Amino acid sequence: MKVMKFGGTSVGKPERMFAISKLITKDNEQKIVVLSALSGTTNSLAEISDSLSKGERAWAKQQIDALELHYQNFIIKLVITEDAYSKAKAVIAEHFEFLNIILKISYSDALNKDILAQGELLSSKLFSIYLNEQNIVHEWLPALDFMTIDALDEPQIGTIKVKLAQILQRFKETTLFVTQGYICRNAKGEVDNLKRGGSDYSASLIAAAINASVCEIWTDIDGMHNNDPRVVTNTKPVEQLSFEEAAELAYFGAKILHPASIWPAQTYNIPVKLLNTLQPDAKGTLIISDAGSTGVKAVAAKDYITAVKIKSSRMLLAYGFLRKIFEVFEKYRTSIDMITTSEVAVSVTIDNDAYLNKIVKELEIFGSVEVDSNQTIVTIVGNEITETEDVMKKIFETISPIPVRMVSYGGSRHNISLLISRDNKENALQLLNKRLFGME
Ligand code: ADP
Ligand code: ASP
Ligand code: MG
Repeated sequence: MKVMKFGGTSVGKPERMFAISKLITKDNEQKIVVLSALSGTTNSLAEISDSLSKGERAWAKQQIDALELHYQNFIIKLVITEDAYSKAKAVIAEHFEFLNIILKISYSDALNKDILAQGELLSSKLFSIYLNEQNIVHEWLPALDFMTIDALDEPQIGTIKVKLAQILQRFKETTLFVTQGYICRNAKGEVDNLKRGGSDYSASLIAAAINASVCEIWTDIDGMHNNDPRVVTNTKPVEQLSFEEAAELAYFGAKILHPASIWPAQTYNIPVKLLNTLQPDAKGTLIISDAGSTGVKAVAAKDYITAVKIKSSRMLLAYGFLRKIFEVFEKYRTSIDMITTSEVAVSVTIDNDAYLNKIVKELEIFGSVEVDSNQTIVTIVGNEITETEDVMKKIFETISPIPVRMVSYGGSRHNISLLISRDNKENALQLLNKRLFGME
């Protein structure tokens, strides 16, 4: 059994849905198809939710109506028969009625999650109606029945496995299943999600839960590129990555993969393929346990990073000092990405500044605290990169015109990270592209 996940662009237009219906029926292997919301929908839903949170109901209503119109136009091109069209209309009516009811209810975080869930429900239901019209036999599976997260927002593959197995048991003869990415239920039983871009994570969790032969992530580009194609003009796909390399790239900003999407596949040793819906024959990227080669593979960048420096001439060398500092971050459930130390100071970076003020206040007990926001982590990834000759020399020569705030080397054998100001990101990525890959 395999998993095929299609992202927002891959389902964003009726013709894309036509194309993916061909891709999912190409072979007879049993499969679970995981769909994202149509491109732009989750952003619109987030804006609607944001307007509601600020009490801007009239504006939220306008946004809901505009989104509904988008779907009305979408189904005109998606289906042909009267029957399919009226079913698609009913789906749209159901979900937009829900959004219109929400307009009248007082806003809460739980309601926000309900709003955000509408996109994947809509896309998968409309796709299912199209498949039925095409006489493509399949079963629509509600992800909310099996995709769960625990009280710490962590998905548990064991639980997902049991729930999914029970559901699949009921459809032994079915070879094609369609479900939603991104959405899940939390420990309180409420609708929740796996954070933005989370459909990749859903796909990998499902692949792990069913012990899939492969987890295919179909998107709008031909695999993981050697550098960020949104920033750098000339980039190329990487043929093979190890799970570790892919996880580092995803975590440090390669948007093609959700940051947490690799560990489930890695834990169950399931190959992940990154493929292009617009160019289905392109090789894409294969992610397996073996990296295939050593040396620099790719560069990624993660924005919106905050650096926090704690200076303390008295205490830094005392044992237990770092623990006390880390405990403050732990208390506010804020994870640390990079760490550097000196005799008198320790610097860390965080990507979530929701509790920054509280954290700083508590850290001030230990010494003076400096905060630099709007930083970017640039990560150079490659199997055994830290043992590859001249890599450090090349990196430092290349970025010599750019001030570097922190360096992380040796944390793993596959990653060298630099912290720079966000303003210098484009320049740094472009310069590294030239020197490390010979591409301008
Ligand atoms: P989907 O909607 O299919 O999940 P995403 O937009 O989330 O697609 O991810 C694909 C996008 O990731 C690409 O269009 C590209 O702009 C961006 N991206 C960022 N870094 C990389 C990279 N290193 N390789 C490939 N794509 C990348
Ligand atoms: N639709 C969700 C988002 O836009 C999840 C996903 O596409 O992966 O974030
Ligand atoms: Mg994505």
